Amino acid sequence: MRVAICPGSFDPVTLGHIDIISRACRIFDKVIVAVPTNPDKHFSFTVEERMEMLRLVTQGLNVEVDCVKGLLADYVREKHATTIIKGLRALSDFEYEFQMALTNKKLNPEVETMFLPTSGEYMFLSSSMVKQVAGFGGDISHFVPECLVQRIRERLSKERNGKA
Ligand code: ADP
Repeated sequence: MRVAICPGSFDPVTLGHIDIISRACRIFDKVIVAVPTNPDKHFSFTVEERMEMLRLVTQGLNVEVDCVKGLLADYVREKHATTIIKGLRALSDFEYEFQMALTNKKLNPEVETMFLPTSGEYMFLSSSMVKQVAGFGGDISHFVPECLVQRIRERLSKERNGKA
């Protein structure tokens, strides 16, 4: 069985992420969407909330949603996965992702990183852009799955008003 790991913050998951995940699902038998439990950064949604949203929007796909506590390179080995899948938007993603890929390769020589180019319509879509628009009460329905629109808007408007 060919297993791929698709890591990311998914704070929150966007249509750009879902595009990458569902394309990876056609190449691999199983795709594990893995959310790092990184306590240093500020996130709008907890790891549990992000995982719950990911489960909701990947129903029906050969996806498992999980969290990663340590190094991704170790997690890949533990899950008997062969590949890390990353989406690439503009050139600006490239340098960081290349550095990550080489680091993971050093830590676990058996792992390959596979880059999937974004679909054109999601080229400029990021979680932080969604949060900015939602924080100002803007329309995010073109950026995230319909079932998450209300939830994201509520959290971001609370955050903006200093209530979260
Ligand atoms: P973001 O930059 O949106 O906060 P994450 O840290 O959650 O993203 O990213 C997880 C993975 O998804 C990364 O490989 C990132 O490059 C990819 N990704 C994010 N948005 C898109 C998009 N619109 N199209 C393709 N890949 C994307």
